[in-house]
Amino acid sequence: MKAFEKNIRKVEPYVPGEQPQQKVIKLNTNENPYPPAPGVSKALQSMDTDRLRLYPDPTAGVLVKELADFYHVNPDQVFVGVGSDDVLSMCFLTFFNSEKPILFPDITYSFYKVWADLYRIPYECQKLDENFRLVKEDYYKENGGVIFPNPNAPTALYEELDVVEDIIAHNRDVIVIVDEAYVDFAGRSAMELVDRYDNLIVVQTFSKARSMAGMRIGYAISNPALIRYLNDAKYSFNSYTMNQTSLVCGTEAVRDKEYFEECIRKIIHTREWAKEELRKLGFEFPDSRTNFIFATHPDYDAKELFEALKAEGIYVRYWGSERIEQYLRITIGTEEEMKTMFVFLKDYMRK
Ligand SMILES: *Cc1c(COP(=O)(O)O)cnc(C)c1O
Repeated sequence: MKAFEKNIRKVEPYVPGEQPQQKVIKLNTNENPYPPAPGVSKALQSMDTDRLRLYPDPTAGVLVKELADFYHVNPDQVFVGVGSDDVLSMCFLTFFNSEKPILFPDITYSFYKVWADLYRIPYECQKLDENFRLVKEDYYKENGGVIFPNPNAPTALYEELDVVEDIIAHNRDVIVIVDEAYVDFAGRSAMELVDRYDNLIVVQTFSKARSMAGMRIGYAISNPALIRYLNDAKYSFNSYTMNQTSLVCGTEAVRDKEYFEECIRKIIHTREWAKEELRKLGFEFPDSRTNFIFATHPDYDAKELFEALKAEGIYVRYWGSERIEQYLRITIGTEEEMKTMFVFLKDYMRK
């Protein structure tokens, strides 16, 4: 072993879902099957490319202002980053510096463990119950911070706001991060608690409900003090996280509320229909409040199903990890895409 090896920071990286370059039915990474708002396309076509000579606004002012208006908060309560992965990673770096372990569920977004390892933050996973529900009392013990997605991924379950509030209220001495990547498909956001709890940070993304995973935009809403700490960390890392194109396109996307709501309605409609179809085929799943369904079948091995679907050009997500080795995560695509999947499944299960 080389002497320098011992000084190298080694991590087991997060493994993102496959992004096949050929055309497939892509139900594996929870992207939105509909295009971004029409204003985004117009903004791209009329982009002033000369503006790209210059550094972008380091405060991301236009986007921050648009988000602040949309959510009825002050601009000093908004932090933006390169996808919510960037925002969450900055939050870990900034807020989780205790000797005590941070807490998150055992079945959840697998990036949390990676950031904790990367930043050398101790952590302790709390077991979801047998129905994959969060046990709020598990988060009342002493800790160095709390993070969980609501709705949770990949289980797709949404916890009502009173459960979320109980966790925040029992953790006034640490920061609680609620990762709301899927909340637009679910119900009330914890954002309405931000004024009452100075230890709360709510993180959301443009990648799911806003159809812009490729643009990489995420944001946090909190009180001005915590947002200031986040910005201090950001400016110590990279002042220009948000590129000019993302600023322009992101702003356009937020402006079109009607389109946003229409997309969500369509996906929820397809999701509810897909639940019925899956049930008819004998699948079992927690009641999804997201744009994906986490399904298992008593008679079919999940890995075999995953591979059979893939051979057919239908990509879903499979992990094979503890407690979820018999589950597939199926993103809600267009009705057309879902129909193609059901035709295949019906045929596969008849054999
Ligand atoms: C998709 C997702 C994210 C990250 O999304 P970005 O594309 O980085 O904004 C964060 N948390 C959860 C739970 C997710 O599912």
